[in-house]
Amino acid sequence: MTNVKLFMENFYILDDGRVRQFLITGEEEALLIDTGFADGQVHQAVRRLTSLPVRVVLTHGDVDHAGGLKDFGEGFLHRADWHLVKDRVSLKPLEEGDVFLCGGYCLEVVEIPGHTYGSVALLDRERKLLLPGDSVQKGGPIFMFGDHRSLDLYIESQKKLCALADQVETIIPCHHPYPVEPEYIRRNLEDAVELKKGTLKGTKHPSLPCLSYRGKWTEFYYDK
Ligand SMILES: [Zn+2]
Repeated sequence: MTNVKLFMENFYILDDGRVRQFLITGEEEALLIDTGFADGQVHQAVRRLTSLPVRVVLTHGDVDHAGGLKDFGEGFLHRADWHLVKDRVSLKPLEEGDVFLCGGYCLEVVEIPGHTYGSVALLDRERKLLLPGDSVQKGGPIFMFGDHRSLDLYIESQKKLCALADQVETIIPCHHPYPVEPEYIRRNLEDAVELKKGTLKGTKHPSLPCLSYRGKWTEFYYDK
């Protein structure tokens, strides 16, 4: 069951307890950021909120974000993640600097590869709002295991976000607590650097093919 919350003007947060999506309603169209799992029924939840045409933007191609795209037919996704989407859908490219306007929001695409190679954040500089997908979280775990992720790129992308941190007040990730304070960009970075250095001790995950590494603030699931 998808829980719907009007978080701020024209901005809804959809949450089924596993992953969140964001719906912005405008005058002539709505903008949906992420589509949840294939069985998440995000399309039905969106249709209960609006009958406007919906443009879909994906923060990245993991199944908990792109699984529901089949119900919308098409969406914007960074090309580096296109191979992750197996459904027959129409994908349109996303890249650095692209801007989506809707409902008084101006969301700018910031490429932040690492969690996946095609991960992007959406930044509204005026509202000081950052939607980082899975790449900034409070506590985590942040998934960094598997072939389609890069810890080196993740670290570089967190540095890039750190440079934007003074333009951010509210961060809403797709998992775990929200909103997240901007300090967590630096905290996630610091823990990722420790993970890379090998100073964090890993414990085998009971069911996933990875180890759990707990940094000072952030847990990572990693396999190297
Ligand atoms: Zn996710």
